[in-house]
Amino acid sequence: MGAKRRAREPRRPMRATSGKLETDVLVVGSGIAGLSVALHAARFARVLVVTKREGHESNTNYAQGGIAAALGEDDRLELHERDTLTCGAGLCDPESVRVLVEEGTQEIAHLVSLGVRFDRDPEAPGTLALGREGGHSRRRIVHAKDRTGREVEARLLHLAQAHPKISILENHIMVDLILASKHVTKRKTAPKRDRVWGAYVLDRRTGRIRPCAARATVLATGGAGKAYLYTTNPDIATGDGLAAAYRAGAPVANLEFVQFHPTCLFHPEAKSFLISEAVRGEGATLLTTDGKPFMHRYHKLGDLAPRDIVARAIDSEMKKRGDKFVLLDLARLGKRLLEKRFPHITSRVLAFGYDVFHDPIPVVPAAHYVCGGVVTDLDGRTEIPGLYACGEVACTGVHGANRLASNSLLEALVFSRRAGRAVLNQLLAEGPGHPPRLPAWRTNGAVTPKEQVIFDHNWDALRRVLWDYMGIVRSDERLKRAATMVGVLRDQIERDYWRYRLDSDLVELRNIGLVANLMVACALRRKESRGLHYNIDHSRPLERYRSDTVLQRLPGRRDVR
Ligand SMILES: Cc1cc2nc3c(=O)[nH]c(=O)nc-3n(C[C@H](O)[C@H](O)[C@H](O)COP(=O)(O)OP(=O)(O)OC[C@H]3O[C@@H](n4cnc5c(N)ncnc54)[C@H](O)[C@@H]3O)c2cc1C
Repeated sequence: MGAKRRAREPRRPMRATSGKLETDVLVVGSGIAGLSVALHAARFARVLVVTKREGHESNTNYAQGGIAAALGEDDRLELHERDTLTCGAGLCDPESVRVLVEEGTQEIAHLVSLGVRFDRDPEAPGTLALGREGGHSRRRIVHAKDRTGREVEARLLHLAQAHPKISILENHIMVDLILASKHVTKRKTAPKRDRVWGAYVLDRRTGRIRPCAARATVLATGGAGKAYLYTTNPDIATGDGLAAAYRAGAPVANLEFVQFHPTCLFHPEAKSFLISEAVRGEGATLLTTDGKPFMHRYHKLGDLAPRDIVARAIDSEMKKRGDKFVLLDLARLGKRLLEKRFPHITSRVLAFGYDVFHDPIPVVPAAHYVCGGVVTDLDGRTEIPGLYACGEVACTGVHGANRLASNSLLEALVFSRRAGRAVLNQLLAEGPGHPPRLPAWRTNGAVTPKEQVIFDHNWDALRRVLWDYMGIVRSDERLKRAATMVGVLRDQIERDYWRYRLDSDLVELRNIGLVANLMVACALRRKESRGLHYNIDHSRPLERYRSDTVLQRLPGRRDVR
């Protein structure tokens, strides 16, 4: 009777025995990618989502503009595909882009069916309102006012929390991936091809580190904007998944292509508050501080030129004139449109003391999106069996050298569904079973640091180096300096990591250090200018560099320097 009842009960999403966690699928991250893949995988497996802050805290939650999809009457998949390829400056993988645009439209319908409330077109009942953004030849941005990400995140999180086969562990940060060769089998008997069996996770409130064993592990840890001093990204964006995958031996690629969002509010307390590109899509104009439009001098699409061009134009105007910002005139949109279409931006800008209805507001560029990431195939598989990646942490080939606006939420949706399917196939192929028993985390005599402030200094220094020496405009000399400085800081951080008791700050600092190192290494290898990578010593694209910059840590070798 007992056994019968047990058979009918759904298996709990995870088991926790003697401090160890165990599940079928471990998803790291609870943004759009993590929650989507969790919901797909939970149809056939137990899923544990670990996320390092509250469930909603993610880049996704702050996305304003929306999600691109060729849904308009005047639009076609080929046009979305063409715009994406043009923006990617010769480095997109055409197959990935095709998958993105073809499957993207169904993903929007899927979100609507899940209860996500996008704005509707009042003039065409039953259809979604479509906004326009830079680099898009048609109106194709599906949105929920100017807080699209929050709407999507809230809905997916609600569904995941209510799902009987999904458990969510908040305030748990992944420290590192668990490799068969390093943690499970003895080196001598380790199989030639390694695999991932889960991750060590640290409970931020108690400081306890536990192994979480899983048959499949999906990295959905988002971007690494915090590698830069000024960024639109929230504090979670420290490149943890990227760093862990690289340490585990997975190839990472194209990290020189960091997108700077052209328009963040310039205000000491705004913490890089983003002013969505969609405002320029509706007619807002960039001006120099003496009130003159300038974008027409840089690109035929003027204010709607691709982001890299707009960011460089702003950088150039600021440097030429010695200004700390340029202006963005939103007043021309009119009070009604501003309040109706951009209520969040309008109210925040007003709260910072700017009369957005009458005066142009000061804006500056800030680091926004990492186009490269952990290399995956079209189904989210990395090179290491058992390890998948989707969302901003992944490099699917969709963005090439520059991401087209609002393609990233779409990429996360399309490729997390595919990753979910690939995980299913892996579990089916392997048959029923459990991951192996994993060793407990060893502290090896780590001590508590006497001064926390030394970590803060390294954190600030790293982010300053990238901002100063690997920003919107680069040169060989600046990049070499960046490499030297990051190298020194990283050596120090690695020593601290092994010496001191781990907390989430030290985990993040170590990851940011490695990611900064990888970004500079990628940038140094690319002796040309292409897409987001602009180097004044090699100002043109060169055919011989029309390929991905791939870095991989080989067993027994030191990290890239
Ligand atoms: C201000 C802003 C506006 C944007 N606007 C748009 C837009 O309009 N359209 C668009 O397409 N894109 C936009 N983007 C980009 C887009 O939001 C992101 O690329 C996308 O949300 C990434 O989703 P993700 O699920 O991959 O990562 P995220 O949403 O960032 O989620 C990452 C998750 O991983 C967790 N995590 C990270 N490291 C660890 C760890 N070590 N252990 C445990 N958990 C961890 C985080 O806590 C978080 O839950 C915007 C980004 C920003 C910052």
